[in-house]
Parts: sequence; C-alpha cells; structure tokens
Amino acid sequence: MAITAALGHDSYLVMRHGAGPGTRSGNMDDVIAQIQNLSTEDALGRQRLGCCFCNDTASLFNSISDETVALPGLTSIVSGKAVELFARMLHHPEGIHAPGDIAGKSSERPSGLLPHQMRGSLSQYSLLTLVGYSSSSCIACSNAVLREYRSRGLDFVMQVINEPTYLEDLTGLTELMKSADYSRVEWVDEVDDEEFADM
Ligand SMILES: [Zn+2]
Repeated sequence: MAITAALGHDSYLVMRHGAGPGTRSGNMDDVIAQIQNLSTEDALGRQRLGCCFCNDTASLFNSISDETVALPGLTSIVSGKAVELFARMLHHPEGIHAPGDIAGKSSERPSGLLPHQMRGSLSQYSLLTLVGYSSSSCIACSNAVLREYRSRGLDFVMQVINEPTYLEDLTGLTELMKSADYSRVEWVDEVDDEEFADM
C-alpha cells in the first residue's frame, strides 16, 4: 500500500495508489502466479486505480528549484487526510482493491467514503474527490516498467538513475510527446496568412 501526500503553495493532493497488475493478498504461490500475469486489470478483474505517476509525467522533472513555500496550515491538513485514507483502506473489506468513492455518494460503511484522490485548495477551501485509472504509459506501474524491473532488478534501477530519459523512452512517452509536438505544428500550418488577417 502506498499513499501520496503532495503540497503546493495553497493546493494539495492526497491519494492512495492502486494495486499492482494482478496482485492480491493470499498465499505466496498465488501472489507469484499473479505477478507473472501483467495486466491493466487488478486481481479482481477491474481496471486498476492509478498511481501518483499515472497522470502526471511532470513529476519526473527536478522541481527543487521551484522554491514553493506551503501555507502554514497545509501540512497538518494533508497529513491528517493521508492518515484517514490509510485507516479507511485497512478497514475496507476489499482493502487495496477498493474502488474509489466520489463525494456525495452515500456509504454504508461506518468509516464513510474511501476516495482514490483528494485534490484541494486552501485559498478557496475547496475539495474534490477524483478517480484516475492506471495508464499503460506510466513510468512507475505500467507493464513495461514492471517487466523490466522483474527481469533485470538492480541493473534496471541503475539505468533509470543514470539515464534521465530512459523511463520515458521505455514507456513510449518520448514518442507520445514527439507526436504531440508534431500535431501542434501541423495545426499552426493549417492557418494561412489570409485567414489569420480576417480573424
Ligand atoms: Zn502508475
């Protein structure tokens, strides 16, 4: 189980990471058998909930230079939400496989809702509960990354540390970003000077 608690200046994210591909609690033989069977579904046959990196490739880059200072009350708010999320996941009958609840839904459990992600802002006192599913291009939990880690172990880790773009190349993000740049260029080229003057 993994919980992320991330702080901005006045905004925050608290989320639980989805189960790995095909993993569930059980005896060790079961777990090993499931680990070999990589899939976008979890052991219960449902689409896996995403991890912190599934929808946020910007997290890859060095952000230490940003020098963001969080508002003084933010740390305790975020850590409290993270602890509550962890406790509710432990008490949920499906544990790490529990689907993400959305605010406003009624819950029969005494502990209440168990969201996947909470994104909030202290300046507006707003709070959103969101569900994000796993990405096949994730640099942390995708099949490509897990397969490499399981077959190469520490060699894989060392290559990731030494080559900043290796994970992006492996998961296809490099190609994806190139194609996004290419389509933007195509779109700009389609507007000719005459049409632009009419606008
Ligand atoms: Zn992921």
